[in-house]
Amino acid sequence: CGIVGVVGKENAPEVLLKGLEKLEYRGYDSAGLYVNDGQGHDHLVKRVGRISQLVAAVGPEVQGTMGIGHTRWATNGKPTIENAHPHVSNDERFYLVHNGVITNAAALRAKYLSDVPFAGQTDTEVVVQLVAFFAREGLSAKAAFAKTLSLLEGSYAFCLADRTDADHLYVAKNKSPLLVGKGQGFNVVASDALAMLQETDQFIELNDGELVTLTADDIAVENAAGERLDRAPITVSIDA
Ligand code: GLU
Repeated sequence: CGIVGVVGKENAPEVLLKGLEKLEYRGYDSAGLYVNDGQGHDHLVKRVGRISQLVAAVGPEVQGTMGIGHTRWATNGKPTIENAHPHVSNDERFYLVHNGVITNAAALRAKYLSDVPFAGQTDTEVVVQLVAFFAREGLSAKAAFAKTLSLLEGSYAFCLADRTDADHLYVAKNKSPLLVGKGQGFNVVASDALAMLQETDQFIELNDGELVTLTADDIAVENAAGERLDRAPITVSIDA
């Protein structure tokens, strides 16, 4: 299973698909991507099975400058198209990829989302619906994500996209691997540097409890208190 993300690059679908192919070794039962061109067009493509099936399903109309991608190794819910990531909130504003297991998802769903219909059975869908729930209550995308993170128990690497804002990606982790890669005029996210070595060799390893906001030219790492941290990238060598 694995996660990739990119913001600020014309060929986002290609970057994501190449990255997912590099993550194939981690195992998967389904895969998907979401991309947005920042001009009102976006696409969600998911497939059960091999990455090559996802690649075949991504036609030339699928374009974007930001996006997120996922290979799933099912933990909660069968490997079906509904349970494949990215998961989307019912208002179609937020798209989320996740590796790991949220152990209190059922309790959170019962507490906050008892009247919200769900498309599948994953713990991840609870998380994306929660972000949308807090955003509808008036929080910014980042604040809604931070509030959601503060409620979660279990393991996660997350990459969150907001359909209404193609300039930002939000990422966080707890007990699952996640790195941010610094490019020239773009930035990337991956579970493993290997997935993005064709784009950059400059990576920042994230710590549990941090929330990172990515734009084309900034990587803002914040601790749980919302204070910005200074984090220099390290060079990852190609043959590492
Ligand atoms: N728990 C999530 C699911 O079952 C994520 C699985 C994964 O790490 O790929 O969909």
